[in-house]
Amino acid sequence: MLSSPVAIDSKLPWVGTTIFTVMSKLAADCGAINLSQGFPDFQADPALFAATERAMAGGRNQYPPMAGMPELRGAIADKVEALYGLRYDVDQEITVTAGGTQAIFTAIAAFVRAGDEVIVFEPVYDSYVPAIETVGGRAIHAQLKFPDYKPDWAQVRALISPRTRMIIINTPHNPTGSLLEPSDLEELAALTRGTDIVVLSDEVYEHICFEGEHQSVCRHPALAARSIVVSSFGKTYHITGWKIGYVLGAQALMSEFRKVHQFNVFTVNTPCQLGIAEYMRDASRHLGLADFYRQKRDFFRQQMQGSRFELLPCRGTYFQLARYSAISDLPDREFAQWMTREVGVAVIPVSVFYRDGHDDRVVRFCFAKQEATLAAAGERLRQV
Ligand code: GLN
Repeated sequence: MLSSPVAIDSKLPWVGTTIFTVMSKLAADCGAINLSQGFPDFQADPALFAATERAMAGGRNQYPPMAGMPELRGAIADKVEALYGLRYDVDQEITVTAGGTQAIFTAIAAFVRAGDEVIVFEPVYDSYVPAIETVGGRAIHAQLKFPDYKPDWAQVRALISPRTRMIIINTPHNPTGSLLEPSDLEELAALTRGTDIVVLSDEVYEHICFEGEHQSVCRHPALAARSIVVSSFGKTYHITGWKIGYVLGAQALMSEFRKVHQFNVFTVNTPCQLGIAEYMRDASRHLGLADFYRQKRDFFRQQMQGSRFELLPCRGTYFQLARYSAISDLPDREFAQWMTREVGVAVIPVSVFYRDGHDDRVVRFCFAKQEATLAAAGERLRQV
């Protein structure tokens, strides 16, 4: 190991390694069933691999255009129009990214200046605030309150200031599994009307919505016009390791996004983009996802019956929250470690998504797993 002579003035002094990496490593080290980091433990569709291999074997292996392959952008434009009734311009309003996290970071870097304020909702997904602070912005926290995790728009109104540059929303919501309603979009539209606030809408679980229709900002033209919308193929097609997603946004916003994107990742691997472009033309593949995960959610919840965990509602995403106060008085981080080491099931402690470590004694389980995995976990969890 080298010892560096450099005195580092960290941009992110309070940030350690992301909880997803920490818990997945601990799960592997302990041989625990990993229900912590969100990823499927089952294979994606061979038809997707075949389409990708055809692109590779056909020599489609050089840099794609900076914004992404036109075939993929075209397929995205058609899907979004079919689902939400808004047509984004294939050339100017859609950019393919190296996953959702990069899309979010790039959007923040493109719009947030030093001293700008960005409103986020706690519990807040762990990448947002470090991204804001890396570029010198300030996160302002609104609350989604336990146990139904709904936004309080009066609170948001009170937090908006002349320095507010961006509001970040996320529906279906990670980690809570809550959903925004049409009335929430109305409130957000009313609050931002006449301002220069950019809305960053993280919709990476758009196809995993169990109640009603997913409320994309794309359904709301006034909001869509001030929004960058993020989605992810990893969640939709069971390929989180491919790290491919996309953003949508009005031309003026997208051209700013691309100024940063081009010098950050430049572009995303060609044959995978072509494989996805071909694969997603069959809409049943994304339209069937909610039923697919509803079954998994219900199976997992059934497995938890008879356990002392108190399950909270799960209206979307592939995450189930549970309260464990009937089991233990430990703070949730310690409880998650104990679960991984002693029970053999790794989970995510929800306090990591709060600035002040606020702890409702709630942990997050990922149910994007084979039934055999969920059943094996259930057997252990019922004994706790
Ligand atoms: N979004 C995934 C989760 O919430 C994790 C992604 C990551 O590990 N960066 O579990």
